[in-house]
Amino acid sequence: MRVALVTVGDELLSGDTVNTNAAWLGRQLAERGVSVERVTTLPDRTADIAREVNEHRAEYDAVIVTGGLGPTHDDVTMEGVAAAFGRDLAESEAALEWLEREGGYTRDDLAEGTAHIPDGARMLPNRAGVAPGCVIGTVYVLPGVPEEMKSMFELVADDFAGESRHVETVEVDEPESALIDRFETLRDRFDVKVGSYPGETVRVKIEGGDAETVAEAAAWLRDRADAA
Ligand code: ATP
Ligand code: MG
Repeated sequence: MRVALVTVGDELLSGDTVNTNAAWLGRQLAERGVSVERVTTLPDRTADIAREVNEHRAEYDAVIVTGGLGPTHDDVTMEGVAAAFGRDLAESEAALEWLEREGGYTRDDLAEGTAHIPDGARMLPNRAGVAPGCVIGTVYVLPGVPEEMKSMFELVADDFAGESRHVETVEVDEPESALIDRFETLRDRFDVKVGSYPGETVRVKIEGGDAETVAEAAAWLRDRADAA
């Protein structure tokens, strides 16, 4: 399963907010064996969101969009997603009922637009906040507030399943350039993906569908590496 993440918010582009949602979702999905192939960050602008969602939904098995929900002027994500599907926004009766029943709100408490989602979308309740998310086709729309996003992701997490992946990490205390031949041999001999992440030492991530193969590949590299 191949997924694209779209994070929305001017504050992410300006660096005022660190994009922890993308990192958290990337990890959750990787742990489920789902491959995240795009992460994009967009301004709070309807046309940009509509275009990106439309392109990505044609290309990936699922698209997860976070941020920009709710009724304030800069919350335009639902509009953008609706436009990507050629739909209008509609007040979600399911969301209003949920907010009355579980949230303790009356309809009059809620700012205009709070419960608007694309027409025909399935509402996802916000157990940690107010503004609902939704699922429309293969597009999942979640809030920006990290706690709200995480709790809403739990509601749909089972939709995200891939092959089980096995990972081993080997720390090597040699320059990355000294490892090129070993990486090549590793990939030739074993059916694994090799990631190389230099820092103070080089962290080598070996990943594959078969636990035994991954363990053998890691052992092979460890045998040839100066321990970090
Ligand atoms: P709400 O449902 O409460 O209206 P929202 O979906 O409208 O939330 P935003 O208005 O986009 O979310 O952002 C709310 C807060 O969450 C802001 O403080 C923002 O900086 C933070 N936030 C938004 N996106 C991210 C992200 N990708 N990573 C980390 N924090 C984020
Ligand atoms: Mg908001």
